[in-house]
Amino acid sequence: MKILVISDIHANLTALQAVLADAGKIDEAWCLGDLVGYGPDPNECIDLVRGLPNLKCVEGNHDAATLKHIDMNSFNPEARLALQWTEQQLRPDNHTWLDNLPERVVVDLVTLVHGSPRQPVWEYLLDTRTATLNFSFFDTPYCFVGHTHLPVLYYLAEENRMAKLIIPENSTQLALAPRTILNPGSVGQPRDRDPRAAYVVLDTDQWICEFHRVPYDIEAVQERMRDKDLPERHIQRLAIGW
Ligand code: ZN
Repeated sequence: MKILVISDIHANLTALQAVLADAGKIDEAWCLGDLVGYGPDPNECIDLVRGLPNLKCVEGNHDAATLKHIDMNSFNPEARLALQWTEQQLRPDNHTWLDNLPERVVVDLVTLVHGSPRQPVWEYLLDTRTATLNFSFFDTPYCFVGHTHLPVLYYLAEENRMAKLIIPENSTQLALAPRTILNPGSVGQPRDRDPRAAYVVLDTDQWICEFHRVPYDIEAVQERMRDKDLPERHIQRLAIGW
């Protein structure tokens, strides 16, 4: 089976459309949260994700804050502005749909969460020390996370049971060995200084994953953000991939 793994779309419809076009036909889609926040197209992105085949999706911290599951004051003032704007835009059916997203989904051999298996909505897996601790918090061979907006693989080294990391190259195929934590990067707001949208395609027949980057029309998104008076800093950062 060919599975599309995406995360952190952040209401960027143009990036999401580019990813779906680039990925081609898929059997299933796994989405690791943060469908909204920052970007100008929250309803359009939720509509598109809801229609993906055999979708599995978890809640991110921006989704949770938009629904007031967590306090918006834990975000910086600009992110909070974008969340308040998003809250006003959400159609009732999309509000209900987001509201029903679980924090954790186990599918086949994979645990899906937004942040980390230890703290599914909030924790950032940014280093090997934090990753090492988190291997105790899931039972499946694999765990897929988003939240940092940085594509990465963490695996447990046999010799000392410490996590090591691989920063994947674009379009390289990597065999997933148990146990591994994978982050596909961000569709709508990459932060690794590469502004192209990021995603992963997973082949579950052989457990091979392929990390991809795809260019999209960033200026069109920036224009829609300006039309909607979204914070200038969020508009600028799209162009530099930060
Ligand atoms: Zn995010």
